[in-house]
Amino acid sequence: MIGSAFNLGRVFGIQFRLHYTWFIIFTLVTISLVYPDWSSPVYWVIAIITSLLFFASILAHELAHSLVGRAYGIPIKSITLFIFGGVAQMTREAKSAGAELRMAAAGPACSLAIGSLFGLLWYFGQSLSEPIVTMVYWLAFINVALAAFNLIPGFPLDGGRVFRSLLWRFTGNYQRSTRIATQVGRGVGYSFIFGGILMIFIHPPDWSWFSGLWLAFIGWFLQNAASASYRQLQWRGSLQGLVASQVMTSDFPIVSSDVTLAQLIERYIFTTGRRYFVVVDEGRLKGIVTLYNIKSVPQPNWGMTQVKDIMTPVEKLEVAYPDQDVLGILERMTEGNIDHIFVASEGRVMGLITRDNLLSFLRIRSELKM
Ligand SMILES: [Zn+2]
Repeated sequence: MIGSAFNLGRVFGIQFRLHYTWFIIFTLVTISLVYPDWSSPVYWVIAIITSLLFFASILAHELAHSLVGRAYGIPIKSITLFIFGGVAQMTREAKSAGAELRMAAAGPACSLAIGSLFGLLWYFGQSLSEPIVTMVYWLAFINVALAAFNLIPGFPLDGGRVFRSLLWRFTGNYQRSTRIATQVGRGVGYSFIFGGILMIFIHPPDWSWFSGLWLAFIGWFLQNAASASYRQLQWRGSLQGLVASQVMTSDFPIVSSDVTLAQLIERYIFTTGRRYFVVVDEGRLKGIVTLYNIKSVPQPNWGMTQVKDIMTPVEKLEVAYPDQDVLGILERMTEGNIDHIFVASEGRVMGLITRDNLLSFLRIRSELKM
């Protein structure tokens, strides 16, 4: 769902990333704040400070989710800020309805608290200079609006998560609760699109058509996100109850460790089209070599570099047991950014699980409607 973004750094061990669409919102906010007086440098300074404080408010909102999540054992890998706010990348879902409820509510609660704080500042700071009063008022308003928008009960918005956790608590059925919450999410998305289009064509004279476009755009995004969450649920459903030996492949290409990269590319990769090779010497597993490893070596050195020089050695490989459950393995792969896991029993390699082969497994199951 989210493409190019660059790293901002770590806060409390969580990686923060900035998506390029975020600059659009930053520019829009700044420009709309400068609007009353373009020629005044004071307005520009205040507008930029306000935009930065708005940015910090969103960071605080996301951080609130993450810290509460972490307290309940849900590790957060990264948070990406983009045009509509922030998206936390969680490697697993909450284990109980209560944990999900608290984690989801923490963000809007934080925004509401920040909004109230700026509200108080505005109330008691009327004597301050006009641009500052305007800034404080805007920040109070935007934080309350942020809390309100996120509380809309369409999954995957915070309100949708709160809604799911309540359904989950009362029905005890996680799958069904998620299904209902994502359907409501899609409904909310579609009504935003519909409302937005209506606003573009029949808007009151003092409104701009742009608000309608914006609303439709948000609706489109929500609808997409809800559908993606639903697909994810279906995937989890198809992997539920399966163990490693049922999804592993035992058909993996083998190469010996003394082959040079030039030979590997010409004789193995070009002829098979495979992107990874299991390195085996005299029946013993030595490691794995991938296209990624090869790309790290400059092309002129391919003739003299051997597979053993660049492979990921056996000591560093991840291993699972044949009867280990697949969902747990998938979580481990996502958390550690691992592409290959060997399935081994009593020191003998029985098969390999790769992300690609898990995905094609899921695709085939869904085509066969299993
Ligand atoms: Zn949130």
